[in-house]
Amino acid sequence: MKASILAVGDELLGTDRLDTNSLALTEVLRRRGVELVSKAVVGDDVALIAESLEGLREQADVLLVTGGLGPTRDDLTREGVARLLGRSVAVDEALWDQIEQGFQKLGRRIPRVNRKQAARVEGAEMLPNRAGVAPGQRIEDAEPMPRGTTYFLFPGVPREMNALIADALDPWLAARAEDGAGFDQIEVRVACLPESVVEERIAPVYERFGDENLSVLARPGEIRLRLRASGPVADRGPLLSRMVEAVRDALGESVFYAGPVEGGIEFEAAVGDLLTARGETVAVAESCTGGQLGQRLTATAGSSAYFVGGLLVYSNRLKMRLLGVPREILVEHGAVSEPTALAMAAGARQRCGSDYGIGITGVAGPGGGSESRPVGTVHIAVAGPADSRSHFEARFPGDRARVRQLSTQFALEMLRRMLLSGVGPADTLPWAAPSRMGPP
Ligand code: ATP
Repeated sequence: MKASILAVGDELLGTDRLDTNSLALTEVLRRRGVELVSKAVVGDDVALIAESLEGLREQADVLLVTGGLGPTRDDLTREGVARLLGRSVAVDEALWDQIEQGFQKLGRRIPRVNRKQAARVEGAEMLPNRAGVAPGQRIEDAEPMPRGTTYFLFPGVPREMNALIADALDPWLAARAEDGAGFDQIEVRVACLPESVVEERIAPVYERFGDENLSVLARPGEIRLRLRASGPVADRGPLLSRMVEAVRDALGESVFYAGPVEGGIEFEAAVGDLLTARGETVAVAESCTGGQLGQRLTATAGSSAYFVGGLLVYSNRLKMRLLGVPREILVEHGAVSEPTALAMAAGARQRCGSDYGIGITGVAGPGGGSESRPVGTVHIAVAGPADSRSHFEARFPGDRARVRQLSTQFALEMLRRMLLSGVGPADTLPWAAPSRMGPP
């Protein structure tokens, strides 16, 4: 099977918008062993869309079209396809009723111009869009004889297109892939380990399963490993299980997710899930992160089950008044210090009445650093039940945004480690020697 991609939209011909949808489409084609023979970008014009598709269908059996399914005048993909195939486009009244009712349930009225989003190319199968309004469409056509062509029309909004790839395109390709073509993959996500440490530890996994079947995608404070299995479809699941097991052996508790690439869990949600499973709660006291930790902990629906609240305490006065940090600690050790972070964590826990408290205090920069506390110095502490505590002094690299992001990442990891085993992440901290206190 051969495929071509056509991205539709005037904005993609300018300088501010890049066609990234074709990359997501390319990825699924590659995974299913389908050869991509060409891709093109075309403006919002019925005749140009029809002509482009006419050229592409000579080379490929499957044409994947993204964009131009919206409600506005310049959304012309349906019309372009219909012109090429000599078919009509008409509003599917049942679908329009369904869309209207969906809006009514939300207490909203849908403008009539949106009727266009319920327009179907004659003979098309509508592909439900769980992420938006306009469904995708799949059309089978006999031209060119004798093999014919399959057209997939996807919305341009990347989130919607990705949902349709997962729900419609991928299963369709999977059902048609020759056994042994393409590959399946799984993602393993790891927090707070530097890339070099991950590479070192998974060296035996590369050796056992082949370099080409493992790839590493690094982002600040998180590494994502893609594990790939090719060969007969029936063997892929068991092979991936063995690979995940080998990665877990190598990386231990740093692994917080192993599963499908699409829809994998974010780190803060993984920590939230752990708290939920244990029926426990957390509160935060933040200085240099300015509420970012609270924001991350509440980014997931249902977070009120485990997030009690937080205090944003920049001044020493508020650290004392709201958290009960002793004046002597602040005078003797300073605001950016281990004793202050520990007192903040304990104060958050006690004042908010949660099982765990997290305290973060540091120098996010670019100003405010000193010789003993350079920019990037952050003290993070977690206080838990039975007087369990952990502390980490970090020297994070990078600018203000990076220091703040890494601070919240490490704070979440410290909480996660305490939830898993009652201790801090001593073996995982790359930038500075941690000091750690377990339960007394
Ligand atoms: P809508 O219902 O929003 O109008 P649509 O199917 O008509 O959806 P477009 O109007 O073409 O899609 O694009 C909607 C959004 O998706 C725009 O912000 C556009 O920049 C983005 N988009 C469209 N095509 C692509 C593409 N190939 N790559 C990345 N982004 C895209």
